[in-house]
Amino acid sequence: MYAIIGTWKMCYDGLTAGHALLAAGGTAADAVEKAITMVEDNPAYSSVGYGGLPARDGHVLLDAGWMDGETLRYGGIMAAENIRNPIRAARLLCGRETNCLLAGRGAEQFAVSAGLPLRDMRTESAMARWRETAQTFRPGDPLTAYRGHDTVCVLALDGAGRLIAGTSTSGLFMKEPGRVGDSPVVGSGFYCDGRYGAAAATGLGEDVMRGCLSYEVVSLMRRGATPQEACEEALRGLSSRKLALGEDAGSISLIALSPAGAFGAATTLDVFPFAAGSPEDVRLLAARQGDGRMDIRPATAEELEGEP
Ligand code: ASP
Repeated sequence: MYAIIGTWKMCYDGLTAGHALLAAGGTAADAVEKAITMVEDNPAYSSVGYGGLPARDGHVLLDAGWMDGETLRYGGIMAAENIRNPIRAARLLCGRETNCLLAGRGAEQFAVSAGLPLRDMRTESAMARWRETAQTFRPGDPLTAYRGHDTVCVLALDGAGRLIAGTSTSGLFMKEPGRVGDSPVVGSGFYCDGRYGAAAATGLGEDVMRGCLSYEVVSLMRRGATPQEACEEALRGLSSRKLALGEDAGSISLIALSPAGAFGAATTLDVFPFAAGSPEDVRLLAARQGDGRMDIRPATAEELEGEP
């Protein structure tokens, strides 16, 4: 058995390549790295890697996370610049016992010492958008996880039964320099325990971290929930708490994968597209609000309109 699942339509090509690796007997780690680097390298995606939208000061600040379900080790970088493939840095850091989560300059120095390729991640179109927005943006203006600005999260299970989770993002557009979202934070943006499953989140990081949502999903799976039940229950828990506090549910989407290859997805949005691959095929699906439960079916052309 092998399986792979990733967030948003933008992961589809990478996920298909990762799926091909798994089908050929490759490892979950190589499949996750392949899927995510393809998104990071594509300048058409304004929320991840090259072409990501900058922070308030015009710098593209990258966050990425990685966790190995067999060893429970994790690695990550945060608020780092000019690392061509943040996910590769996170994967390498995952092999370490200490110093596995590095911020800013330390992460950049690590990438150089590890021989990872560097790149100026600012594209002309991202900088044009930043210049235009910066004219009217005022500190204190709300930051939102808007359509087209999201994290790529990939979870994979290989034939040897190994589970891996990875995430990569340039974070929210116009974030304050130094702001870190959930994506490199273990337990919030991602979590993976080979005995119970893997989970990852996309959406407003500040909210995701309030519920430590990825750990919560895996913890529900440990207590017997299916990946689908766990995603829905974790999201319901945080949303209802927020509603009780007089806040809206926010924009959060979750994915999960079990050690048996079953997957789940849930969202507070009307529609959350994601891709999932099994030995049969790779499909572009969508989670939507159903009758008390999430409705998971193939994504329609209409639902994918406007998706990068
Ligand atoms: N979770 C990311 C962050 O807060 C952004 C997103 O997934 O939309 O930085």
